[in-house]
Amino acid sequence: MRPSDLRFSSRAFDLPTSRSPIRVTWLGTAGFAIEHEGTTILIDPYVTRVSLPTAIARPLASNVALARRFAPKADAIVTGHTHFDHVLDVPTIAKLTGATVYGSRSCTHLCRAEGVAADRVVDVETTMRGEPVRAEVGPFELRFVPSVHSAFALGRIPFPGDIADCADVPLRTHHYKCGAVFGVELRVAGKRLYHLGSADLLDVKVPRDVDLLLMCVAGWTTTSRFTSRVMQAFTPDAVLLSHWDDFFSPMDAGAKMLPAMQLPRLVEELTREDPSVKLGALPLLGSVCL
Ligand SMILES: [Zn+2]
Repeated sequence: MRPSDLRFSSRAFDLPTSRSPIRVTWLGTAGFAIEHEGTTILIDPYVTRVSLPTAIARPLASNVALARRFAPKADAIVTGHTHFDHVLDVPTIAKLTGATVYGSRSCTHLCRAEGVAADRVVDVETTMRGEPVRAEVGPFELRFVPSVHSAFALGRIPFPGDIADCADVPLRTHHYKCGAVFGVELRVAGKRLYHLGSADLLDVKVPRDVDLLLMCVAGWTTTSRFTSRVMQAFTPDAVLLSHWDDFFSPMDAGAKMLPAMQLPRLVEELTREDPSVKLGALPLLGSVCL
């Protein structure tokens, strides 16, 4: 199976003519841009895509030219956790666009160290007080939902803990610790979208009847009963698969599927749970509207 076999089209949804569309663009890895009526929310945007030798041996630097090219506009940036493939470009894009960043305490530390203005960073972790934090951005209503990271590295979550001390930015790969993990529910124009940035979840915390689930694939095979739990918890109408690509390969090379993601088996299991679910994947920078 190739990801193109799962390509989404706007025909996956009944597009209303009475309002402007909600446009969902895949930025590679777990990254998405979601736009409606001129407001753009970025989630886990990662476009630098450092090479594997750099990730192993050198401090990681966000590529400003790539950030400018692939993330030209953002009103808000949401970071689900602070591994480098989710957060490396967040401070750069925030500074380029003036967007407000929503993320964990770990994300806040990083953004402040990288020079993002204090009033442009919202720590959704310390303001939660046991309840999901909410925010309004233009027509979007955001709700940050506590979640968990898949334990795919020999049964462990890679690089656990917080980014607490960033005096020595740029950081190396292992300094990008996971931090607190969040899913984000986005409600806009009567639709409910949900970004699951790692292949695990706290089943009782998530919303049901999601119109479009943006689902991270990486690590799904090591998460207990992942497919049945996801389908029963979210009861999604449609699922867009993400984080199945080789993120050490540059943007210009297009998305290359990693065989270890076992996409055919994943699709089979999701379809068995709900034969009517709309399943899709997008090419790099491809969009779907709903
Ligand atoms: Zn991660």
